[in-house]
Amino acid sequence: MTLRAVIDHLLYRWLQVENLCQRERHADHNRQTFDAVLDTCQRIAHDKFAPYNRLIDTQEPRFDGERVVLPAATHEAHRAYVESGMLAAAQTYEMGGMQLPFTVESAANAFFGCASVSMGAHMLTVGNANLLMAHGTPMQQAVFAAHEFNGRWAGTMCLSEPQAGSSLSDIVTRAEPDGPDHEQDPLGPRYRLRGHKMWISNGDHELTENIVHLVLAKIPDSQGQLVPGTRGISLFIVPKFLVDIRGQLQERNDVALAGLNHKCGWRGTVNTLLNFGEGRYPVRGQAGAIGYRVGEVGEGLRCMFHMMNEARIGVGMAATMLGMAGYLASLDYARQRPQGRLPGPGGKDPQSPMVRIIEHADVRRMLLIQKAYAEGALALELYCARLVDECHTGSEPQRQQAQQLLEVLTPIAKSWPSEWCLEANSLAIQVHGGYGYTRDFPVEQYWRDNRLNMIHEGTHGIQAQDLLGRKVRMQGGQVLQALGERLMRTVNQAKNQPGWIEQADALSQSWSELLATTHEAGLQPDMGLPQAVPYLQAFGHTVLAWIWLDVALTADTEGAGDQGRRAACRFFFAHELPKAKTWLASVSLGDRTAVDLPEEAF
Ligand SMILES: Cc1cc2nc3c(=O)[nH]c(=O)nc-3n(C[C@H](O)[C@H](O)[C@H](O)COP(=O)(O)OP(=O)(O)OC[C@H]3O[C@@H](n4cnc5c(N)ncnc54)[C@H](O)[C@@H]3O)c2cc1C
Repeated sequence: MTLRAVIDHLLYRWLQVENLCQRERHADHNRQTFDAVLDTCQRIAHDKFAPYNRLIDTQEPRFDGERVVLPAATHEAHRAYVESGMLAAAQTYEMGGMQLPFTVESAANAFFGCASVSMGAHMLTVGNANLLMAHGTPMQQAVFAAHEFNGRWAGTMCLSEPQAGSSLSDIVTRAEPDGPDHEQDPLGPRYRLRGHKMWISNGDHELTENIVHLVLAKIPDSQGQLVPGTRGISLFIVPKFLVDIRGQLQERNDVALAGLNHKCGWRGTVNTLLNFGEGRYPVRGQAGAIGYRVGEVGEGLRCMFHMMNEARIGVGMAATMLGMAGYLASLDYARQRPQGRLPGPGGKDPQSPMVRIIEHADVRRMLLIQKAYAEGALALELYCARLVDECHTGSEPQRQQAQQLLEVLTPIAKSWPSEWCLEANSLAIQVHGGYGYTRDFPVEQYWRDNRLNMIHEGTHGIQAQDLLGRKVRMQGGQVLQALGERLMRTVNQAKNQPGWIEQADALSQSWSELLATTHEAGLQPDMGLPQAVPYLQAFGHTVLAWIWLDVALTADTEGAGDQGRRAACRFFFAHELPKAKTWLASVSLGDRTAVDLPEEAF
């Protein structure tokens, strides 16, 4: 089974993306054009990304005092990606795009995640430009977004500060109006920003001629005080080099690289501490980075959520593809490595040939768990991408339903692969034995790269609180109900298809238990939040059981691919879904041992 075969099944047989060609925006497309995009990305990923994945791990980005130095391979890979047109793939023809469905774009990008997840600066650039398409003025779109889509410039998101990561309401970067004419600038209301932004991915490099930072900052009130909480946060475009309205570069803006962060993994991406407005590059004789406001004052976080939600699905996809890369590597290894003999007659005979480790029951167990995690996660991510397409081009009822499903599924799409595809990477190391723990094989790097995903874009704990504390109660519980209705549709289909009744009943039961616990936690909010992570885990496993059952219902041939899908689904129901019950029991228990323990007793 190849990654391409998995993607083809999910896109064409399960999600039926060809139906999207009936919509006006995608009318020029068909299976051939979709396949051509997939072929191109698969080829570039294979030729320009995969061969250099180890190199970018060992040759970390370095700052020579003037500029950030990246390996030549990163520049080449970036060039090839830009030339493929993928940065603008989902955009309109007028924006230089292909009007490709987001689902196909996501599937095509999956090849890069598998080949070398941290090479290049693409996901943030596209997310940044998409935010401007949603919230920027036509001028901001024409000047900034357009040059990100065509690859001349790259984009970042600057939220975190050294003292404010999970708690963005505590950011202290200030934005003050730049002169009496600040409202008249054609690029947007003009401000001077001062502050420090920590952990900024792709914050400085020379892959592109300019970098468009999207920065959260607070505008002081008339007494010069920052408004507490998220209400005070606004959003600004702060380019590394200032530009005119035709996109011509001008002087350097006052954004300085304070240093690089040296990371456990994901080393192909530069990660930076940036100083805004410290006077290192004075603009028009003054310290202060020039920034152009996007959206209204105080609406910054709401606008930024556009990018954060996309980035969360992107993080989930990255985690998924690392899980997939580890699975494929360990499958390949297990097919070749001879070790030991099978129990049973002749098993103790040292003269008999050794078997390959794929013949050992425990290795098969570890491979099938990885398959269930990685392929299940890929299905979930592509399902979410299909929902994004419904939001963009569906009818009003389709759009509404898709939006509700996305609200409740986004924390799962981000967190589930981050946790379980990381576990898959750990199992991939285990399948390799001692060799997996060395740098001679790629799996330890996959694990290190994947370890990031439970941390950035909202930590695991924060995602769990968002799910239990907010998402499941949104719109008076209607978003949860929408998911329940969709899930029960699969249950009913499974009941009418021979061989799946047991799984249909188990899923229906698990959903009822999840609803009961959700209700219980809502009655006693204090009980809920300390238990938010086990709740997230139970929710995630139930969602994945639904996804697997839905996929398995379309796996109806005797080919090896469909056999594998049905087996992974049965395996998930037999060995993984039962864990949800235990996690829900832990939530219901409302145990406060950790919360009540005096600090000195830890
Ligand atoms: C490699 C990398 C790339 C990144 N890229 C970017 C980027 O491009 N742009 C950007 O803006 N940021 C970026 N980040 C920042 C990232 O989003 C933050 O690291 C993350 O949000 C956590 O913030 P923190 O590191 O300050 O940890 P903290 O917020 O201090 O959290 C530490 C621990 O405390 C827990 N915790 C904190 N608050 C609560 C609470 N209220 N309830 C329960 N538990 C809590 C957390 O879950 C976590 O386990 C990146 C980070 C890394 C490591």
